[in-house]
Amino acid sequence: MGANFSAIAYLIAGVFFIMALRGLSSPVTARRGNYFGIAGMVIAIVTTVLNPQILGFDLIILGLGIGAVIGTVIALRIQMTAMPQLVAAFHSLVGLAAVLVAAAAFYAPESYGIGISGQVKTASLIELSLGAVIGAITFSGSIVAFAKLQGLVTGNPLVFPGQHWLNLLIGIVIVTIGVVFVAQESVPLFWVLVGLSFVIGFLIILPIGGADMPVVVSMLNSYSGWAAAGVGFTLENTALIITGALVGSSGAILSYIMCRAMNRSFISVILGGFGGDAGAGPAAAGRGDKSAKAGSAEDAAFIMKNAGSVIIVPGYGMAVAQAQHAVREMADRLKEEGVNVRYAVHPVAGRMPGHMNVLLAEANVPYDEVFELDEINSDFSTVDVAFVIGANDVTNPAAKTDPQSPIFGMPILDVENARTVLFVKRSLSPGYAGVDNEVFYRDNTMMLFGDAKKMVEGVIKAL
Ligand code: NDP
Repeated sequence: MGANFSAIAYLIAGVFFIMALRGLSSPVTARRGNYFGIAGMVIAIVTTVLNPQILGFDLIILGLGIGAVIGTVIALRIQMTAMPQLVAAFHSLVGLAAVLVAAAAFYAPESYGIGISGQVKTASLIELSLGAVIGAITFSGSIVAFAKLQGLVTGNPLVFPGQHWLNLLIGIVIVTIGVVFVAQESVPLFWVLVGLSFVIGFLIILPIGGADMPVVVSMLNSYSGWAAAGVGFTLENTALIITGALVGSSGAILSYIMCRAMNRSFISVILGGFGGDAGAGPAAAGRGDKSAKAGSAEDAAFIMKNAGSVIIVPGYGMAVAQAQHAVREMADRLKEEGVNVRYAVHPVAGRMPGHMNVLLAEANVPYDEVFELDEINSDFSTVDVAFVIGANDVTNPAAKTDPQSPIFGMPILDVENARTVLFVKRSLSPGYAGVDNEVFYRDNTMMLFGDAKKMVEGVIKAL
């Protein structure tokens, strides 16, 4: 009876999780999706806690309490722009948990009903070694991703000759040791397996450079899901298997979408080390003798007020400055003047998938004014003004013209085709990928130097 109840409850939780994902696929339904997710998680936790096999609640309550306090404090304090590194940090915990559960099951198989010490079921050994390997890769890979996103480690690709071969060799050794481990059930081999997986996790993520980090974040998201699913098999917990598989596959789909957005191959991402060939770093941000034209908020207001159409291109700097509300207000004023205003969102703008959509939604920008790259890119050649606010890499033509550039091949928003390009940023510094942007120096570009929010407020005042 208890087992039947759990199975049905977990199934219902799984359905809620699927509805959550469905809701999250569009900004209009995202909030509802989150509520489904919360409901599913409550059902899953309550069902697990009601399991008759649980002997004492002290540790569970303590764990839930500590986790809830830490989670709440972090959620309240986290800056939106620091979200990617927070997600990476959380992924590392999922990976570590998978390793620990696998180790616990291996050391105390009786408690997990998978056999007795020295005679663990073969299927269980396969499951727990897979969970440990994927978990360890997720753990160390996520730590590197966190360090890169937090700026603790350089965002440049860290490459050395023979890297791919070394990764391949370690991969083969891991598979071989895994097979021997399952056959022999050897304790030292378990830890060699875990150790090598930690190492390969570091090696896969280290070479990946700035602009490719979105793919890394979604890829680790997928890995963490599969690690959780592996744990689910070990614990024979259907909810964990369903949730892990959902996270794993949706993360894989997101990675695929991000790869397409970056024009990278999915396979090379999964294998890692796609940030560039040995020796290829980001192009230097050299300015030489080029000069950029600077303007003021009043100039920008004058130009846009007299324009027929404006496309706003938001990027990471808008998020840093929290300028989205001011941008909406500016757009409203322009619309009152009869200007056609639209927004162009690049798939990797900002620092996480959907970052700009979330900010624009928060500022109540109508969804039908927000367009994706494919939908709007050809319109730049007919628009009067491209108003680029805190975006940089996603507009950089080096992606089309410089095969040496780390962003080469990535589709960009063709802002330089607009009659006038207004670029709001604080300096001529490059963006996340560390590549100088030649649009700054074009004749039809006017730089508006300053903090994004203050500059837009200045434009509103002048309007
Ligand atoms: P970029 O990082 O290329 O450029 C952002 C620009 O914003 C900077 O050049 C900076 O210039 C400017 N800026 C920063 N703070 C402010 C401020 N307060 N006011 C005004 N401007 C400011 O951002 P994009 O959005 O164009 O591109 C995203 C990049 O991040 C891509 O390379 C992408 O691959 C990468 N990435 C994306 C992730 C995702 O999932 N979307 C995840 C991880 C990385 P200045 O200093 O001169 O002000």
